[in-house]
Amino acid sequence: MSARVVHLVGARPQFPKLGVVLRAQAAASHGEPLVVHTGQHYDPAMSDAFFDELDLPEPVAALAIGSGPHGRQTGRMLEAIEATLLDLRPDAVVVYGDTNSTLAGALAATKLGVPCAHVEAGLRSFDRSMPEELNRVAVDHLCDLLFAPTETARDRLRVEGLGERTMLSGDVSAEAVLHAEGIAAAHSHILQTLGLAPRRYAMATLHRAESTRPEVLPGLLEALASAAARLGTLVLPLHPRTRAAIAELAPHWHETALRAGVRVTEPLGPLDFLHLTGHASMVLTDSGGVQKEAFLLGVPCVTLRGRTEWIETVECGANVLATDAASIDAAIARHLAAHHDRDALRARALDLYGGGRAGARIVEGIRTLSKEARS
Ligand code: UDP
Repeated sequence: MSARVVHLVGARPQFPKLGVVLRAQAAASHGEPLVVHTGQHYDPAMSDAFFDELDLPEPVAALAIGSGPHGRQTGRMLEAIEATLLDLRPDAVVVYGDTNSTLAGALAATKLGVPCAHVEAGLRSFDRSMPEELNRVAVDHLCDLLFAPTETARDRLRVEGLGERTMLSGDVSAEAVLHAEGIAAAHSHILQTLGLAPRRYAMATLHRAESTRPEVLPGLLEALASAAARLGTLVLPLHPRTRAAIAELAPHWHETALRAGVRVTEPLGPLDFLHLTGHASMVLTDSGGVQKEAFLLGVPCVTLRGRTEWIETVECGANVLATDAASIDAAIARHLAAHHDRDALRARALDLYGGGRAGARIVEGIRTLSKEARS
C-alpha cells in the first residue's frame, strides 16, 4: 500500500510551495498526496486563483476556519485538523512556512503521533513581536523532520539543538519561481491589461499585522505615495487586511496616492503577480515571500520592516530594510545608484537557495519519514 501523506495548507504563501512538493511527489511516484486546506485564506483571489492557476488538486478536506484572533483561529484549526487526521490516518503530515495553519497542523499531527515534516524550517527574524516568528520557533521544535532552505537556516537549527532532525533541502520558492515564470511569460497579459511597460513601474505589497497598526500604516502609505512619485507608477495589489485598515485609518489616502502614481488593484493571481514582479524596476514589500521572489527574479527590493528572516537577500545587496519615510527614500536612492546586474542577482539567488531542486530532496525526506512510521 502506498504511503498516505497529508499536505496541510491554508494561506496564500503556502500554495506555490505546495505545488513544488506535489509535482516532485508525482515525479517520484511516491505515495498518495492528500491536501487539507484550513481555509485561513478563503477569499477567491487569495486561494481559488492559486489552485486553478497552479493546477493544484482539490483538497480532500476544506475546513473553512476563516479569519479571527490568533487564539480562536488556531484553536479552531487544531480541533478540525485533529478530527481530519483521525479520519484520514496518514503516514506523514507536511506543514509549510510560518502561519497559524502551520502551527495548528504541526501540533495536531505530533500530538497524535503522526510524523510531521516542516518545509521552510530554521528561518528566524529574531523579532518575537512577529506572530510568524513565534510560529516558526514552535513548529521547528515540534516537528520530526526539518527541511532547511539555506545553510543559515540549517546552522540555526543546529544551534537550537535540532541538527539531527534537519535536512538541507534548498528553498521551495526558487523552484516555484522557475516553474511559474515560464508559464506566466506565455499566459499572463497583465502588463497590457494595466498598460505598463517593463521596468517603467515598481511593485508593492503590504499585509503584515505590524504594518497595518494605526501607528505604522499612515507613515508607510505616505512613503509608498512618495515612492510612486519617484519611480513612476507603483502597482499595489491590496491584501484584504490592508484594504480594511486603510478604510479605517486613512480613508482619503487613495486620492493622494492616485495622483502620485499608485495603482491599487485587487490581490493578483500568482502568474500575473510573478510576471509583474519580474518586469518591475523595483519591489517594495513587507512580505517574506515577495522579498525573496524579487531576489530570485533579479529585481532590487526594499523590505518595509526592521528585520528579515531571509538575511541572504540583504547581505547580497539585493534587499535593503527600511521602515520610515526617510530610510525608504534612501533605500530607493541606493538601489537606483547601484545599477544592479539582474542576471548576476538571479544567479546568486539561485545558488543560495539550492538551485531549484528542493522538491525532490523534500520528497526523499518524506519517503524516509513515512517508511519509518510504517515499520
Ligand atoms: N502573491 C500573489 N499575488 C499578490 C501578492 C502576493 O500571488 O497579489 C504571492 C507572491 O508571489 C508570494 C506569496 O503570494 O508567492 C506571498 O504571500 P504573502 O505576501 O501573503 O505572505 P508571506 O510570504 O509574507 O508569508
